[in-house]
Amino acid sequence: MSEPSDPRKDFALLPLGGVGEIGMNLYLYGWGRGLNRQWIMVDCGVMFGDAATPGVDVIVPDITFIEERREDLLGIVITHAHEDHIGAVPWLAQRLGVPVYGTKFALLLISAKLEEFGISEEVKLVEVKPGERLQLGEIGIEYIPVTHSLPEPNALALFTPAGTIIHTGDFKIDPTPTIPPAFSYDRFRALGDAGIEALVCDSTNALKPGRSPSEAEVAQSLKKLIAAAPHRVAVTTFSSHVARIRTVAEAAAQAGREVVVAGYAMRRVIEAAREVGLLEPHHRFLDEDAFGYLERDKVVLLCTGSQGEPNAALSRIADDAHPRIALEPGDQVIFSSFTIPGNEKAVFGIINRLAMLGVDVILNTPQQLVHTSGHPRQDELKELYDLLRPRKLVPMHGEFLHMRAQQKLAQAHGIGETALMADGQLLRLAPGPLEVIAEVESGCWHVDGKLLVPGRNGPVKERRKLSYVGMVALSVALDAKGNIRGAAQMVTEGLPEFTADGALLEDILLDAADNALEDMGRARRRNDEKVIDTLRLAVRRAAKAEWGKKPVVHVLVNRV
Ligand SMILES: [Zn+2]
Ligand SMILES: [Zn+2]
Repeated sequence: MSEPSDPRKDFALLPLGGVGEIGMNLYLYGWGRGLNRQWIMVDCGVMFGDAATPGVDVIVPDITFIEERREDLLGIVITHAHEDHIGAVPWLAQRLGVPVYGTKFALLLISAKLEEFGISEEVKLVEVKPGERLQLGEIGIEYIPVTHSLPEPNALALFTPAGTIIHTGDFKIDPTPTIPPAFSYDRFRALGDAGIEALVCDSTNALKPGRSPSEAEVAQSLKKLIAAAPHRVAVTTFSSHVARIRTVAEAAAQAGREVVVAGYAMRRVIEAAREVGLLEPHHRFLDEDAFGYLERDKVVLLCTGSQGEPNAALSRIADDAHPRIALEPGDQVIFSSFTIPGNEKAVFGIINRLAMLGVDVILNTPQQLVHTSGHPRQDELKELYDLLRPRKLVPMHGEFLHMRAQQKLAQAHGIGETALMADGQLLRLAPGPLEVIAEVESGCWHVDGKLLVPGRNGPVKERRKLSYVGMVALSVALDAKGNIRGAAQMVTEGLPEFTADGALLEDILLDAADNALEDMGRARRRNDEKVIDTLRLAVRRAAKAEWGKKPVVHVLVNRV
């Protein structure tokens, strides 16, 4: 280990997202003391909302900590172009005012996003070539090509005064990828020979033994299936998976079929892939209009929607509601994907709707390989440990279950020091032992329409409550002396219409409010707050008696 230039300083990791969840990757690394550091940010990704976040599709890390000290932030360093690594750039980069570094493919997708947001001018993008090294303050950063499931994935070597740290980004070790680059075995071995202080490593598949199949095996299997398909065949996959898109184009050409692409995100990726030379002119992609005039056995449909996204092409096709594309009994849909945890219900919904149309669905199974993960299983992790021989290991990119599995694997493989950490913890990596030396505010922000709102105590909390119990709005008119002036009015949302006896629930609630207001007496009715509290209580109590649940109740007092 090289001696630190200043013995009081150290190099530390502070994840604001990505540790304890798969998604929302955002890792701060800093050289300095305590919270006083030169920081770099590695990746800036999103997570997707679900039923627990009604109205919120996209979630980004809470970056309050680094925003408050942005003069100490030197840059945002992007490992690769998946949404869980770049998706938050248009939401957050502008607030930080630092350049975004990445390879060409990642920057093409980021700049398309910035354009959509109308902020291209405000975020500086700096291209880094794979294998290149940049210097941010005292931290040298080398991009090391790895294999994954989209173009230009990189691990980072961080050269610091306290030694070298490897941040793997997302990777697998695929000896036979179908698009470049190859996995950088030699570079990792050389770095290992020179000495690695700590390895911060992808944990996604750490529970799975063995190795993940190679992309080349999937390509072979897909080619066979497409060649044998009797009628139309549709392939759905992740829109950024250029290797898979290329395989489908080649399989189609071999089978004498044309490829029709449905889905905006996939078309944009195809353009970016052409720009970086990963698709060639002979890889032909037609647009949706071509679908109508191609013979049933002359077409392969390539479409988005493998996760059951309701607005994606596949969902509309399954509903038989797509304006230009329809499938018929005997056609096939291949899910060249896996279902991200949380999306199971939506995906099964689509599979069932396709089955209703008489369409045959092919899913990935060990017997019929139509997908492989881009993340390392246990034998691949051990192979990387052997190449690098790190002194310390810190699992990341996983839920605690996955990170704990990797920790145990590393311990069993003889890595002496390991640490499990959580978002918001500042972990010293070197020099000295791994140790959490501080804890800072972390969490998430929800993208709510055009706004960023707090994740924990933001509007979604109330929205979720409303979704369980509905709402009652009650308006009463009183004069300054407390006399009742006119009938109370009520509006309800999301409540049952009738009680068990067949009475109108709203009538019962309105009666309860009227009675309570009468019973209050004039003197107490002069006080708005007392009126509001009394009526809320009366309506909630009546609802509980008739319905068994208490709605959210709002009372408006008009003084006339
Ligand atoms: Zn990835
Ligand atoms: Zn990822």
